[in-house]
Amino acid sequence: AKLDGRATYRFFEPEMDARMQARRRLELDMRQALARREFQLHYQPQLQLEGDRLVGCEALIRWQHPVRGMVSPLDFIPLAEEIGLIVPIGEWVMRQACRDAAGWPAPLSVAVNVSPAQFKSERLVEMVMSALAASGLPATRLEVEITEGVLLHESERTLQTLHRLRELGVRVSMDDFGTGYSSLSYLRSFPFDKIKIDRSFVSDLTGAGKGAGKGAGKGDGEAIIRAIAGLGRSLGMTTVAEGVETADQLERIRAEGCTDVQGYLISRPIPAAEVLAFIAAR
Ligand code: C2E
Ligand code: CA
Ligand code: CA
Ligand code: CA
Repeated sequence: AKLDGRATYRFFEPEMDARMQARRRLELDMRQALARREFQLHYQPQLQLEGDRLVGCEALIRWQHPVRGMVSPLDFIPLAEEIGLIVPIGEWVMRQACRDAAGWPAPLSVAVNVSPAQFKSERLVEMVMSALAASGLPATRLEVEITEGVLLHESERTLQTLHRLRELGVRVSMDDFGTGYSSLSYLRSFPFDKIKIDRSFVSDLTGAGKGAGKGAGKGDGEAIIRAIAGLGRSLGMTTVAEGVETADQLERIRAEGCTDVQGYLISRPIPAAEVLAFIAAR
């Protein structure tokens, strides 16, 4: 190595190198994945508790890699965001999701995750309008899910983009609510239609006797969910509990006043081709 005087550099170099190479490989593969049609969308149903009614599905991207097999979005979305590739990938997701949802019975909606990097692109609103027009899906059946990363730098342009989407009739959800530093203040800067309570609070729903210690901590999911559900009610927002896996969690969530649920208990994300059968079976 160049820096012979620095033992630490020499020591870590091979490992760093391997990681850089893996990243480079992933990047190259990802750049070709769109053209090779390796991405797919799976859909996870969302249920409204009142009336036990299916209200829509969240689109979740899947990458069927020819060698690696199914790659989790957690393993490529962050890199795609970093290198800007999320813009063309996100456009593909939006167009495909609108096309798929146009084949579902009304008023079922589709929720699409939109990354912070996509909000930096000037043409986001035009892209959404074009996806709606091409698919024939009414704007009222489209929902965009954003995390607080989108509002982190709360630029005028971002807020304007959100308002323009809203004017089209598109609904806007705040995803992973409660995990960031200033979730609450974002509710003041933009009137979301829906709050999605992060899965970590749902998995914190423990049995009786929880939260006995002083201060909030693990096991206090119940109090937090109750507070968010109350907040949603006062602000006129739908509150969805994410990651509901057990009947026990479902009952607690119902008792705390959330309006909607999503999670493995209702259904895992399913391939697009299976959505209509799922709807028919309910
Ligand atoms: P997310 O938007 O919070 O999506 C929910 C994630 O939780 C999904 O993981 C879903 O499969 C998983 N999940 C749902 N119910 C349960 C449950 O009951 N238990 C457990 N343990 N997990 C559950 P997935 O599909 O791996 O996606 C991970 C993340 O990748 C998403 O988190 C989202 O941030 C990102 N992502 C996925 N698709 C897209 C996309 O099309 N565009 C963008 N920008 N991001 C995406
Ligand atoms: Ca989401
Ligand atoms: Ca989420
Ligand atoms: Ca998440």
